[in-house]
This record gives sequence, C-alpha cells and structure tokens, in this order.
Amino acid sequence: MSDDSPLVASAGDVPFPTSLPDFQRLFPEEWTCIDYMVSIRWPAGFICPRCGAKDKPLRISTRARVLRCHECKGETSVTAGTVMDHSHTPLSVWFWAAYLVTSMTPGMSAVQFQRQLGLCRYETAFQILHKLRAAMVRPQRDRIGAAFPVEMDETWIGGRTRGEGRGRHHKTLVVGAVEQRKLHKKAEKGELLQSKALPRRGGLYAGRLRLGVIPDRSAKSLEMFALESVQPGTHVTTDDWPGYDKLPYKGYRLTQVAQRGDADVAEASLPLIHLVFGNLKTWLNGVHHGVSPHHLPAYLNEYTFRFNRLFYPFNAFRSLLSIVAQTEPMTYDALYQREGGTRSRRSGGRG
Ligand SMILES: [Zn+2]
Repeated sequence: MSDDSPLVASAGDVPFPTSLPDFQRLFPEEWTCIDYMVSIRWPAGFICPRCGAKDKPLRISTRARVLRCHECKGETSVTAGTVMDHSHTPLSVWFWAAYLVTSMTPGMSAVQFQRQLGLCRYETAFQILHKLRAAMVRPQRDRIGAAFPVEMDETWIGGRTRGEGRGRHHKTLVVGAVEQRKLHKKAEKGELLQSKALPRRGGLYAGRLRLGVIPDRSAKSLEMFALESVQPGTHVTTDDWPGYDKLPYKGYRLTQVAQRGDADVAEASLPLIHLVFGNLKTWLNGVHHGVSPHHLPAYLNEYTFRFNRLFYPFNAFRSLLSIVAQTEPMTYDALYQREGGTRSRRSGGRG
C-alpha cells in the first residue's frame, strides 16, 4: 500500500514532532538525526548489509554517518540511498529543511529557505530545496477509489497573460479525481479532528486526490485519466458532459448529474472536487503568481503530494528525505554495484 493512503498508520514506534519546539528538541544536532535514521532504517536493530550479522554496530567518532560491522568490519553509510547521500551539509539541516517543506508555507523561495536554515551559501539552500521538491514530484501510480466513491471533473487553469486580452490563451485543462469519505462521529472525536484542514462539505471530506493535465475534454482523454487514476469498479460521479458517458464500458459505476449551470446542483453533486479546484487555483495564483503550462504538471504533483499527506507529516518527511526501512540485508550484487559506482537509487517507497 502506498504511503499516501490516509488509511496507513504513520510513525509507528518512532516519534515524530508535531511542533517546531518539538522538532528542535528531537533533532538538536547531528547524532540525534543519525540515531533517528538508524531506528527507521533498521526497526528491528541493525543488520549488516554485507554479512547479515545482527549486532550493534561500531561507531566511528570522526565519521558519524558510518556504522561498522562487528563481524566483517564492513562499513555502512546511514545515508546510502537517501537524498542526503554525498552531501556535506549536516543532517540536522536536511531534517530541518524537509520539515519546513512538508509543514510550512508551500512554495518557499530559496532565499527564504536560506535564511530559515541559517546557511551561508545560497547555492546550498537552492540545492537542498531542489532535491526535496524533486522528491515531491515523483508521480504516484497507484489508483484511488475502490471502496470510496470518487468525484471527477475538469477545470481550466491559467488565464490572461499581460497584453493578450481576454480569452483562453495559455489556459490549461486540468482533470481531477477525489475520493468522497464520510465523517464518522467516532472518527470526528479522534484522529479526524484535523480534517478541517481538508476540503469537507455536507458530512463528506476529501480522501485521496489525483490531478492531471489533459489536451482536451474528449472521451478518450477523460477515460485515459480515469484508467490511470481510479480503480475500475469504483462509483464515479461526474457532470453530464458526454465525454464521461462511456465510463461504464471501462468498468466504472457512473452517476452523471445534469448541472445546467446551476451552482446549487453543482455543489450538491460534486462538492469536493470543486473545493479542491478552488484551493488549487488559490495556491497557484497566490503563492506562485500563476504557473506556466510547461511547469504546471510538476506543481500539480506537488499539490497532490501535500494534499494526500496532510495528516501524515511523518510519511511526507520520510518520503522527501527518501529514508526507507532496510529490513532485508542488501544483496552482494547490489553492494558490488554501489561500490562500482553505478548507483541504483532506492525509491521512497511509492509506486
Ligand atoms: Zn558484517
């Protein structure tokens, strides 16, 4: 199951800070970050990737990121396969950076970032921000829906470019699918208290989201997006645009609602996707002062990444730093490849 599912429990036994002071208490310096990574990567205790020995590794005071095996004396880097590998920047700075990116103002500039992290060099801030944002735009390939009904709709994003007057120049067609989830009284008392952060309306709140750019409103384009994003068998609600008519032939249970420009009907039948589109446009215009069609897909992925992880900052944090659990010892082949210089990057665990 992918880590963006709101159903997945988050941190497990490893604590995750919920506030800035908490964060600073948990990760005051290099060794606390390293211990944290060791506890995530080897939840059942360190296993030497070379010889498979399960023993507390030796630590080297001058090389804090290295764990040395008692048995074979082989060395393992804590940051191998993560976004922090080969970086001279302290892990505490990376942690702070990932925390800012996942929990604070989206679309922070590199200059603001440099100031927040207290970095001397702008280039370092730029590189870190770039790497973390690249981790956000890895596409998710698993499909939403199944047990949850899905709302699907399209919208135009973008607008007038200065000096071009009105019209649809530079407007891009975006299609979205979002899960309808019901608020339960029990859940409302507990973990879903925070769901005020998510679009909700009429006893429903938004589950997982998928967004995509499509060339037109044709049945072909809409069906292709549906098949990539929504599991067949899912109950899908759309407006009465003919492009959706054939979705039942693709395996979906379809409800089409005639809106005829009536805002009340639109709100009653597709409440969540319209809220999502509204929030998305506010974000794109407010934070980024509009986005060119060329860069829009990357921003849609970033928006989706945050949206799907609102409740799970731990997962977002780990995904961005590409810290993954290494419960299986690495194979000799993989190790040999690493030493030979052809690095095969482990993914952040998402499909
Ligand atoms: Zn060993």
